[in-house]
Amino acid sequence: MAQLYDVAVVGAGPAGSSTARVVAKEGFRTIVIDRRSSLGLPVQCGELIPTPSEARNLFPRSKRMPRAVHVPSRFVTNKTKLIRLVSPNGSVYEFSFNANIIDRAEYDPYLARQAQDAGAKFLIESTLKKRSANNNLLIKSGVSETEILSKLVVGADGANSVVARSLGQHFIHSDKDLSPSLQYVMSGADVDTSVVEMHFGGKIAPGGYAWCIPKEDGIANVGFGMRRSLARDATPLRAYLERFAFKTLSSSLKNAKISSRVAAIIPMGGPLRKTWTNNVLLVGDAAGHVMASNGGGIPTALCGGEIAGDVVSKHLEKGTPLSDYERIWKKEYGKELETALRVLRVADTVMPSDTITDICMKLAGVRFLEPLIRCRLPAPVDIASKTVVKVLSQFM
Ligand SMILES: Cc1cc2nc3c(=O)[nH]c(=O)nc-3n(C[C@H](O)[C@H](O)[C@H](O)COP(=O)(O)OP(=O)(O)OC[C@H]3O[C@@H](n4cnc5c(N)ncnc54)[C@H](O)[C@@H]3O)c2cc1C
Repeated sequence: MAQLYDVAVVGAGPAGSSTARVVAKEGFRTIVIDRRSSLGLPVQCGELIPTPSEARNLFPRSKRMPRAVHVPSRFVTNKTKLIRLVSPNGSVYEFSFNANIIDRAEYDPYLARQAQDAGAKFLIESTLKKRSANNNLLIKSGVSETEILSKLVVGADGANSVVARSLGQHFIHSDKDLSPSLQYVMSGADVDTSVVEMHFGGKIAPGGYAWCIPKEDGIANVGFGMRRSLARDATPLRAYLERFAFKTLSSSLKNAKISSRVAAIIPMGGPLRKTWTNNVLLVGDAAGHVMASNGGGIPTALCGGEIAGDVVSKHLEKGTPLSDYERIWKKEYGKELETALRVLRVADTVMPSDTITDICMKLAGVRFLEPLIRCRLPAPVDIASKTVVKVLSQFM
């Protein structure tokens, strides 16, 4: 016999645990299902999250975001103050950006504990295999299978969401926008702990960028994300990262050792056109809530999870429509996600050529590059970028 719940949340990342905490707090029978045996592990993230005041800047329309991104200081391993953009020829553009680097191996389990304390039940080492139209979930835990029947399902199961797939073609990210990413955690790194570096270029990360994020003194998250559709050849991911870590960053990483490696997917195609049905909501990466101009998705996962939790609770309590979820997240951070996607689409046109990338970055300068990374498109850039795209398209 299937177990019965009001809400089944699939995925216990920041999006899923935030949703579950809010729903369970309202007294609804809530279960969270995650395939991992230890929540938060392996860490598949650069672990950078804007500080609450920076989040206010990034998402000026959002009332909830500054509170959502507040991370208790015991999970903050470093604070960075500056973002340094490096163009293919090595030119540097820097601007101030306050971020917390967090320990997701500890933070994700903390978010899960908060949901548990609110009353949510957790089923870990358990994978959603199938969801039927009436929210009958087939869960595999080791060799055994369980059925869960839930009034509502929240898909918080990341870029390759099984919940989203169960809803049909319109809810699946296009393959060309899925960014395979690889990251090493490197110890013995001689990097400035206040600076986050983002490197661009066809040899570095076609259709993406490579990063060096100082996790704590002597330790750095060194990684890159790219899009295969924009690469000239089939160079393996590892070769890109080895080149970046040991050639581009050779001076700061010459004595560094790789202490762990992770590979994962970042959905870069912007939000799905629809993120709800009559009995399902999609949150976080499953909904495409990633800032396409920088690949960050923790803030929107946390904030979107809280919005989903509120909407689900009100729906169960008073019958308010689930479509409220999409209305509210769009109001809070939809414009920024949309702008970030526009920035990426323009960059896609420019970045395949390193020379043009260098010229564009030089022409733009830090005054215009900064807002682009911050999901903003200042009017002159808007006009200029459209012109650049128009001119370039005549030669391509
Ligand atoms: C290499 C890399 C670096 C990144 N760096 C940053 C960064 O520095 N800053 C930032 O803001 N963002 C970063 N991101 C993006 C960020 O990690 C995500 O946007 C964020 O984790 C999204 O949270 P989520 O809860 O939606 O999904 P996730 O954190 O991916 O959680 C999804 C959960 O669902 C579970 N799951 C998946 N499928 C199933 C299934 N079928 N059944 C049961 N459970 C399932 C998974 O085990 C996982 O626990 C990075 C991503 C990558 C890959």
